[in-house]
Amino acid sequence: MADLTVRINRIVPDSYVDGPGRRVAVFFQGCSIGCRGCQNRALWPGAGGEVVAVADLADRLLAECDRAGHRNITISGGEPFDQPAALAALTRLLKSAGAHLIVHTGNVYEELALRRHPSTSSGSISGQTQNPATAEALADIDILVDGPYIIGQDSPNMQYRGSRNQRPLDLAATRREGRLVTLDWDRPELIITHDGRILASGPLAEVLAGWGLGETGPARRCGQTN
Ligand code: SF4
Repeated sequence: MADLTVRINRIVPDSYVDGPGRRVAVFFQGCSIGCRGCQNRALWPGAGGEVVAVADLADRLLAECDRAGHRNITISGGEPFDQPAALAALTRLLKSAGAHLIVHTGNVYEELALRRHPSTSSGSISGQTQNPATAEALADIDILVDGPYIIGQDSPNMQYRGSRNQRPLDLAATRREGRLVTLDWDRPELIITHDGRILASGPLAEVLAGWGLGETGPARRCGQTN
């Protein structure tokens, strides 16, 4: 664990588009999924970005949280589950520090939950997953936004994800209730940021634009870092 490293693209200290509320976002470098229409192919190569120690990354993210006065962290990419051991170690450190964790993945949750260790041949969605690192990460995540980006499934009313097939899964409630719990992120939202900007989506954005106010948001496609 002490030597474990992770390859990241960047940290965004103040994000309002990677999940509800003010958040610190980190984008992992490398994605093996390759969705058509991905907004940032620069995150695909596994050799790009910056290699950092997982423990140092956790410290940096928590320091940004302390500066902003919250504990909301989003992990996106790229594909976080392409670095499962680093992801699991990072989610453990952040969760033990009291963070609320959102993770964006281009994988589908059911596939992750069944993901097998290469040396095993069977799996069960109702039992323990057989990839220990993936299972550990899933156990610490509060909200998992899952699925690939699909062109043509965009919607102006949709929040915090790129296409409608991507589900905001409340994994904390899923673990508690023993059934898959999906959040409603399909309502237009109005957000006033800490520095006084107004972010709006859907019909609210059109109304505010008519008044000469507001910015369109907060939808962001997976892989979009700016
Ligand atoms: S949209 Fe996300 S999952 Fe799909 S290729 Fe881009 S970074 Fe990877």
